[in-house]
Amino acid sequence: ATRLELLGLPLDPVTLDQALDVLGGWLTGPRSPHTVVTLNPEFIIQSRQNEAAGDFTFTQAMKKADLVTADGVGIVWAARQLLAREVPRAPGFDLSSGLMRRHGADLSVFFLGAKPGVAEVAAQKAAEQYGIRVAGVHHGYFDTSEDVRVAEMVRDSGAGLLLTAMGAARQEIFNEYWREVLNVPVMMGVGGVLDVLAG
Ligand code: UDP
Repeated sequence: ATRLELLGLPLDPVTLDQALDVLGGWLTGPRSPHTVVTLNPEFIIQSRQNEAAGDFTFTQAMKKADLVTADGVGIVWAARQLLAREVPRAPGFDLSSGLMRRHGADLSVFFLGAKPGVAEVAAQKAAEQYGIRVAGVHHGYFDTSEDVRVAEMVRDSGAGLLLTAMGAARQEIFNEYWREVLNVPVMMGVGGVLDVLAG
């Protein structure tokens, strides 16, 4: 599907199934890093606020993403109003759970983010529910001076899927900035998904 531009940001008009096919291809193809952004209205507002303050890193991270899906109805509505296009939803939770359900034991997942203890529970429950392998876990409350240590931990885990849940901007910037070090086939910013998986 041809990439759209919504309020200066990229948007790929793909259905959930199409997105899962794309991510599945990255998982099974030659190992190389890919980033996924699930766009919501808050991201657009925050990237503009950051730009106004002279910080373009969030905007640039989203522009460099390999896949940008509509996380929810806010973006679907905006695309309808501003572009006269019907864009399907492909939310972060559905992408995460769908990929784990499709690939099961063939998929090794690193759970990065949320408050200390949450990623462990999310990983355990995902392993029980989807049969995935747990590549590693780390909470999301570390200083940027520790980014390289965490990025190398993820790299060394050999994960096929990195779920980064550290809040809007922080998670997208981390995945994009460390893309080559992380070298994970599918790296996705997922907001509150680890909290949801942990129940
Ligand atoms: N989070 C984190 N580190 C941070 C800030 C947030 O790991 O420095 C986690 C938070 O615990 C939650 C997820 O990121 O699991 C999404 O947080 P929130 O909903 O506050 O962020 P938003 O997506 O609204 O920006």
